[in-house]
Amino acid sequence: MNFFERELKDLKNKGLYRSLRTIGGAQGSRVRLEGREVLLLCSNDYLGLANHPKVKAAAVKAIERYGLGAGASRLVSGTMIPHAELEGRIAAFKGAQSAILFNSGYAANTGIIPALAGRGDIIYSDRLNHASMVDGCLLSRADVKRYRHRDLNDLERLLKKSPPSENDMVKRLIVTDGVFSMDGDIAPLREMASLSEKYGAMLMVDDAHGTGALGNKGRGTAEHLSVRAESITVQMGTLGKALGAYGAYVAGSRDLIDYLINKVRPFIYSTALPPCVAAAAIAALDIVEQEPELRTALKGNARYMRAGLNDLGFDTIGSETQIIPVMIGDSDRAVEMMDNLLDEGIFVQAIRPPTVPEGTARLRVTVMASHTVEDLNRALDGFKKAGRMLGLT
Ligand code: PMP
Repeated sequence: MNFFERELKDLKNKGLYRSLRTIGGAQGSRVRLEGREVLLLCSNDYLGLANHPKVKAAAVKAIERYGLGAGASRLVSGTMIPHAELEGRIAAFKGAQSAILFNSGYAANTGIIPALAGRGDIIYSDRLNHASMVDGCLLSRADVKRYRHRDLNDLERLLKKSPPSENDMVKRLIVTDGVFSMDGDIAPLREMASLSEKYGAMLMVDDAHGTGALGNKGRGTAEHLSVRAESITVQMGTLGKALGAYGAYVAGSRDLIDYLINKVRPFIYSTALPPCVAAAAIAALDIVEQEPELRTALKGNARYMRAGLNDLGFDTIGSETQIIPVMIGDSDRAVEMMDNLLDEGIFVQAIRPPTVPEGTARLRVTVMASHTVEDLNRALDGFKKAGRMLGLT
């Protein structure tokens, strides 16, 4: 057996093997998977904007005007009009002075964190932060202190250990997801903003799953919790989830954005987002602002699904949003449950280590605004049957 065969066999033995599945057509509440129609319960296209006619039309129009590729990094071949326009829109949307685009959330986090903290600095990171933040922390070479998930006492205990002193040049950075990607719960941003002020730390929030989905105006977790934009140093978010496009952004002070343009390596050294993607994201922002009923539907669907799963006896841990984990524990059993659900025509993913901590494998259900009550009832029915086969319900 060669190295690859051995590693793959090992992953299979541990129930950790992953493989790709091809779906026909666009993202939507129902998709064709391997020749049959299934209910899609694992997409982050929460508002259905990935296949929205206005979003598609904006992309097509931009391709006709600006072509496809951006040609190079924006520091090399220039910022194109849709990039600049989208940044203006995002700054206003997030209540910030300025904004900057990145090619993906992963590129943003692995670039921004090392730009803000380096050797000798301290990063305070929630234990359940997204992998892209974890990797950004590793790349930074800073001293990374991981605090217990959403635990303000633990965070303060760590902050107190290295308080700022006079002439102290150490940078302190607190990093957190706004909505936790695998748990669907929400960071206590108001209290975190107070702690960051008290201990002279910067606060960075990754609002990949809050952007467009949370808050009355869809502005994200900070709006949902009534936290002022200025109390968060770095408001990061993505364009590929509720906004249905691709890429990421940071909103913040003019100085922060100017600094990031000069320091973030994935911004400096990679080809910019295709302008049509930026144009599509502008159309998506229009819809987020003009159609709050999409968010109302999303919230209602999340509530209905969560309550239904709880009634069946499933543990949805701390979910408060459209991300609803169904805790299983063992990876093999989570995969078995996923396969049973697929037999019932329900497409949902088993999330296993290292994405989540050992012993907390789960099915990550995500609802969309476009799911109907019939869809959700069908899903609940599937969960009931699949759960019974595993002796869970
Ligand atoms: N942050 C969080 C919290 C995420 O869930 C994700 C995507 N899974 C990312 C960052 C990465 O964003 P992207 O998909 O744009 O690379």
